[in-house]
Amino acid sequence: QVVVVGSTNLDLVVTTAQLPGPGETVLGEDFRTVPGGKGANQAVAAARAGADCVFVGAVGTDEFGPRLRDSLVAAGVGVDRLRTVPGASGVALIAVDRDAENFIVVAPGANSALTDLDADDRAAIAAADVLLLQLEVPMPTVVAAAAAARAAGTTVVLNAAPAAPLPADLLDLVDVLVVNEHEAAVVGGGEIEALLALVPRVVLTLGARGAAYADRSGVRVDVPAPRIEAVDTTAAGDAFTGALAVGWAERGGEDITAVLRWACAAGAACAQRPGASSALPDRATIDALHDA
Ligand code: ADP
Repeated sequence: QVVVVGSTNLDLVVTTAQLPGPGETVLGEDFRTVPGGKGANQAVAAARAGADCVFVGAVGTDEFGPRLRDSLVAAGVGVDRLRTVPGASGVALIAVDRDAENFIVVAPGANSALTDLDADDRAAIAAADVLLLQLEVPMPTVVAAAAAARAAGTTVVLNAAPAAPLPADLLDLVDVLVVNEHEAAVVGGGEIEALLALVPRVVLTLGARGAAYADRSGVRVDVPAPRIEAVDTTAAGDAFTGALAVGWAERGGEDITAVLRWACAAGAACAQRPGASSALPDRATIDALHDA
């Protein structure tokens, strides 16, 4: 079982010929709403990859709350620990032009109200094999969740996204750090070796070049990504991280090479399809690309 403590946002996406400047109004083209947020995306990725997955998070009392909740339910994610809090849900206002240049404003809304964990949240974390965390909910909550996991022997996997330096009390509780190259640079040094001074195990994603793993016992693994035609790499990192958590839970941290290969297949499968959360692959799709 995988528990995710994290964010859920509704992405409000409009395409436009030209992005507006300050004070300017432009007429857009298509508009769509897409459930997102790194926490929810990784929970959906884990559930589609075949895990029993529980999401701990918060939506608002606005009209977006039920939409966000329903999209998690539809993906098979457990929502018993999802609260509804007074006020707005998390939203991301996104404008995209024809060159795929974009403008994004995130209003965290209900995500910033996820300020404490109750006994039932801790019980869910204790019962899980893996706790999967990101950095889109308040840091004290991330640290409290990691501490609950550590106390119960649940493996803590932290995806340090969006990129930010990590406080020492969190670093002490992380079992596996997952970062892309940009996040690796912000968290510390950029090199996998430098990161091992901070946490015991590191997974570095390398886009089309695949992923690398290293730990303090001296294990080093490099895995190439499947060769694919990349259509839209949005959420590839979420697909990778969700699948990594599932593989880690299923294999109890053994057979790292196999887990990394499978997670790379998940990231690549996501990159093959347009869209973000809608492109997160199911287990059969991951397996097919993995075995190709
Ligand atoms: P992020 O999306 O967080 O920036 P990456 O770009 O490193 O992270 O992508 C995450 C994973 O998705 C990679 O490790 C790889 O497995 C897969 N992936 C991403 N882009 C491609 C691509 N062009 N071809 C194949 N796999 C890809």
